Amino acid sequence: RDASVPIESLDQLSKTSMPLCMRMCHEHIRHEHHIKHGGRMQYGLFLKGIGVTLEDSLRFWRAEFTKKIDVDKYTRAYEYNIMHNYGKKGSMVNYSPYSCMKIIKDMAGPGDCHGCPYRSFDAPTLKTKLAGYGLSQGAIDEVLFFVTRGHFQLACSKYFTITHNTTAEPTITHPNGYFEESQIVMG
Ligand code: SF4
Repeated sequence: RDASVPIESLDQLSKTSMPLCMRMCHEHIRHEHHIKHGGRMQYGLFLKGIGVTLEDSLRFWRAEFTKKIDVDKYTRAYEYNIMHNYGKKGSMVNYSPYSCMKIIKDMAGPGDCHGCPYRSFDAPTLKTKLAGYGLSQGAIDEVLFFVTRGHFQLACSKYFTITHNTTAEPTITHPNGYFEESQIVMG
């Protein structure tokens, strides 16, 4: 994407245009004001991919983390990590946002928010989450149909069609692809 995405729009975008894996991370950092390494990598690189600038990323993470810890500790412990994602520190590698395959394989531990929720959540938790996001019982059943058969990306695609009120089912292989598709559908 050419245009940068302002961090002020992330709350809204997390509801309308982010797949579940990223919405989970966004909600986690907003509620907990902390996010573990796996989530910082997964969500941080996603944000880079949708067009959040390094300067905005630093502003976003700093504002959240410093609700719980002081600025010095944040700078020492976390800022490096964020700049690293943008290839500004360490090996200067410009890291790519993670694909679905990578995220689905990565099973998160307690306190983590990363991973693919269709894979890592148990059915009752996923149902509660989807109901909380306003999906009807019928819509939830449609998503769960694929989840219980281990087709996590098809479940994600179903969630897309439901939440975008469209019949065209996108092929989901990458969270950033999901986001792009959403931007197109929403015009
Ligand atoms: Fe994210 Fe891919 Fe899982 Fe969808 S299928 S929630 S985009 S990892």
